[in-house]
Amino acid sequence: MTQTQTTTEHVFTTAGLGMAPFSLLSVRDNGGAKELRITDHTTGIDTIQKWGGTCHYCGKFITVLCDIKSTDGRISTVGSSCVRLAGDYRLCRLVDLAVSKARKVTNVAKLRARKAAAKVTLSSHPELMTSDTHPQEWRANKGESLRHWAIWMLENAGAKGQTAACIAIERSLKEAA
Ligand SMILES: [Zn+2]
Repeated sequence: MTQTQTTTEHVFTTAGLGMAPFSLLSVRDNGGAKELRITDHTTGIDTIQKWGGTCHYCGKFITVLCDIKSTDGRISTVGSSCVRLAGDYRLCRLVDLAVSKARKVTNVAKLRARKAAAKVTLSSHPELMTSDTHPQEWRANKGESLRHWAIWMLENAGAKGQTAACIAIERSLKEAA
């Protein structure tokens, strides 16, 4: 007499996505946003595209697209939340790592673009921030302005300080307009 073997099948396998274990091919992420801005650098024109796709597991609209491959070669796209709900901790960890890495890269690129714009603003508005005093008293006493602070921060500060300088420059530009 043979005993029936009980196996817990992967929910993705049950749903027809192929045999477990699944490997992660790629994670396509847009920082959680549903829109993707594409800048044409020859014309300077921005176009906005809808970002996202359909989860092959639950059929819902997803913004973090995880491309997975089953051991029998089936390639599917599933949402990060479905990977989590599937209880596949190994796959979940791979997805989390890929997402955090991608977002770090996105943030660095965003700050670089923001800094470049801030520098253009400063050079095209030589009077900007010169009538505001430097936030450090001893520097203000030496006659340094907020502009000196912003230039120093853009060159020497960490990401947080650079962002603060960008915000100050953007705000001053808006006030000057
Ligand atoms: Zn799903």
